[in-house]
Amino acid sequence: MTAAAAATPMIRMSGVDKFFGPLHVLKNIDLEVPKGQVVVVLGPSGSGKSTLCRTINRLEPIDKGTIEVDGQPLPAEGRALARLRAEVGMVFQQFNLFAHKTIVENVMLAPVRVRGVAKDEARRTAMELLERVGIANQADKYPAQLSGGQQQRAAIARALAMRPKVMLFDEPTSALDPEMVQEVLDVMTTLAAEGMTMLVVTHEMGFARKAADRVIFMADGEVVEDTTPEEFFAAPKSARARDFLGKIL
Ligand code: ADP
Ligand code: MG
Repeated sequence: MTAAAAATPMIRMSGVDKFFGPLHVLKNIDLEVPKGQVVVVLGPSGSGKSTLCRTINRLEPIDKGTIEVDGQPLPAEGRALARLRAEVGMVFQQFNLFAHKTIVENVMLAPVRVRGVAKDEARRTAMELLERVGIANQADKYPAQLSGGQQQRAAIARALAMRPKVMLFDEPTSALDPEMVQEVLDVMTTLAAEGMTMLVVTHEMGFARKAADRVIFMADGEVVEDTTPEEFFAAPKSARARDFLGKIL
């Protein structure tokens, strides 16, 4: 990577506004995420965290402002948008695996269909990824035969199969039974340590403290605080953040 390429932020949002009808959901968001950074997004329900994530791969269009991924403006549609989506991996609260395909088939699908990768090569890569997330032995099962934690790890492997430049996680552990939360966080912590750029919406404060380089606190569609986890947890500046922490800690 040249110095200029390294200096280009992975995500750059400038003056982004988003409305749902009369509801102003994102208000003049300016956000830069440098390459390799792990950003945890905190905030009360309805503050716009999911919408923020969804605008970054254009699952939601924006009404004003600009978003760039690795220096490229978000394409509106077509092949260019499909390429962009391939570079921005997304993991949701609901795993969204294809129920009638096996785990390894789920992981192979997008590389074969979107990237035109040969099936045997896609299978090899998929098996390596399943190994990495610790579920290679579940490869030939169907999603319903796996635990929630295993399904979410499969969903992470599926996102990684497209070799994304950045990974977005929207409450990836919120739908899991408590005993399965840690195995998913462990996979995410490893990814972070390997240098993946990550934007993570979560209520897991242990993960925020341990893995985040930076914490963003949102309220009512605005970024209210943008600081280190140490500062945020020790001394949140805004009343809304103090109130939020008081409720969850
Ligand atoms: P969070 O993820 O922080 O809970 P969201 O981004 O999901 O917040 O939602 C922000 C606001 O936008 C909420 O008031 C929510 O009800 C509203 N909202 C989200 N998605 C839609 C939609 N598709 N249509 C209308 N309103 C929506
Ligand atoms: Mg949400």
